Amino acid sequence: MHEWSLAEALISKIEEVSSGRTPLHAKVSIGELMEIEVDVLKEALNVLAKERGMDRLTFTINVEETSFKCNSCGLEWKWKEVAKRMAKELEPYQIIDEGEPTTPFHFLPYLAHAILKCPKCGSRDFEIKSGNTAKLLSVVVEE
Ligand SMILES: [Zn+2]
Repeated sequence: MHEWSLAEALISKIEEVSSGRTPLHAKVSIGELMEIEVDVLKEALNVLAKERGMDRLTFTINVEETSFKCNSCGLEWKWKEVAKRMAKELEPYQIIDEGEPTTPFHFLPYLAHAILKCPKCGSRDFEIKSGNTAKLLSVVVEE
């Protein structure tokens, strides 16, 4: 499951930045477009942290809104404004993950450029301004 591989990567990064000290709290930001299940991610982080001896580590997970900007007409729009309307167009690209249909962005956020277009002028020349990646924002370690 995608959440677990992401958790694995985040835990390794936390271990790296803590460099031998005891991490107490980590703040993580997840792009909305990734369609990560926050509860599943949290559980995975907790399990992996314990496995690696980071017993006291707790997490804050923020979901960052995904926004786009069209390079042709300048329109800026948000994923949640078009997500419902896009559901039909995304159907052919659906991936069945453990019995549940999910959009391909869950696995491949960069596919956005191949599938989405500007809701105003129809151009595929747009930027993803925010909310397409997972970031480790901060780690608090024991002094
Ligand atoms: Zn446009």
